[in-house]
Amino acid sequence: MQEHDVIVVGSGPAGSSCAKALRAEGIDVLVLEKEALPRYKCCSGVLFGQTQELIKSYFNAEAPTSIQCSPAIIEASDVREWNSKDGYRQYLWEISKDGKQFSQSYINIWRNLFDKWLLDLSAAEYRDQSNVKGFKADANQVSVQVEQTAGDGRKTAQEYRCKYLVGADGGNSIVRRLLNPGSASSDAMAVGILQSYFKLESLGTLKKAAWNVFFLPEVGEMLNCVHQKDEYLLLCVGGFRGRKLRESMEKLRVFLSEQFDVRLGDWWRDEACQMQLAPPILGRDRVLLTGEAANFVYLNGEGISAAMDSGYRCGKAVARALQEKKNVMPIYEESIKDIAKHIEKCLAQARFITAQAV
Ligand SMILES: Cc1cc2nc3c(=O)[nH]c(=O)nc-3n(C[C@H](O)[C@H](O)[C@H](O)COP(=O)(O)OP(=O)(O)OC[C@H]3O[C@@H](n4cnc5c(N)ncnc54)[C@H](O)[C@@H]3O)c2cc1C
Repeated sequence: MQEHDVIVVGSGPAGSSCAKALRAEGIDVLVLEKEALPRYKCCSGVLFGQTQELIKSYFNAEAPTSIQCSPAIIEASDVREWNSKDGYRQYLWEISKDGKQFSQSYINIWRNLFDKWLLDLSAAEYRDQSNVKGFKADANQVSVQVEQTAGDGRKTAQEYRCKYLVGADGGNSIVRRLLNPGSASSDAMAVGILQSYFKLESLGTLKKAAWNVFFLPEVGEMLNCVHQKDEYLLLCVGGFRGRKLRESMEKLRVFLSEQFDVRLGDWWRDEACQMQLAPPILGRDRVLLTGEAANFVYLNGEGISAAMDSGYRCGKAVARALQEKKNVMPIYEESIKDIAKHIEKCLAQARFITAQAV
């Protein structure tokens, strides 16, 4: 059995940022990731202004061209909402935080490459194809049950031990579900999302290097968005429980073709997920939650900055608890107050087509 000071579940931006903060304090941390890396993630893959600042301040880096896709930059002024009555107007995606404005030039990236790049920058030890299935926590330690898949596909059960376990395992977090079996009650505030990539034949009358946003009641309760990633056009639809998202996707395709003469070629791939819109849940005793697992998501599902910032602060809080032999939860709670406040502001501004749920 392996022992570590801290085990982080999930190698997304929250997990890597948490691991980075722990490594910076010389703490022994292992990141466990259930997928083979680099893994895909349901995401538009846009680094907003705040995310770019966090990459600089926490990782002392800038997103390299090797992880970007074309068009590499989307200006905030080119994030545009269209409706049949008024035509286009700018759509405000990222809002100021604590009175601070961020860069208005957003970077278009591939999430699989970005996440692996960030994980490598954290310099943390990691193991992929390691699916955390359960854990048991007592007053002194946490034992973690993991199903590991070898190169030949053989699965083995492993047990790890740690002083602290961090669930950075995203919107469908198993750590959150095991910690709070009642958390499924927040399903009423969950939205389903489907993204499809199609080979782009022609943008028709849509502007190049723009991110187009539509609120179409026939498609879904959420905003729909469309933007280019290299030779593909990425279409995103979403809605409350019961919405048939494949039908929504087809309706969005037809709308784009009829309204803007967009021509799409072969389908490449789908990505689907669920997103919770709820106040943060931080965890209990030696088991912490961070990133989307803790419901840290900003306006319009802008989640990379919320994940990085909460993840880093979670790592710092755990490091301090270990160094000063203190209870981690009050430290963590205090350190993320501004993030929680910003989430409240974002939830208040969230825009849906029906008044249902949120
Ligand atoms: C359609 C869509 C578009 C989006 N577009 C943007 C955008 O353009 N910009 C932006 O800032 N945000 C965007 N977001 C939000 C953003 O993708 C998420 O908020 C962000 O990825 C959360 O990061 P995280 O590290 O908390 O979780 P994740 O990135 O989800 O990482 C969690 C990791 O945990 C792993 N994991 C899960 N379960 C286990 C387990 N049992 N054992 C081990 N590992 C496990 C997963 O495989 C995954 O790698 C979008 C979200 C959606 C749904």
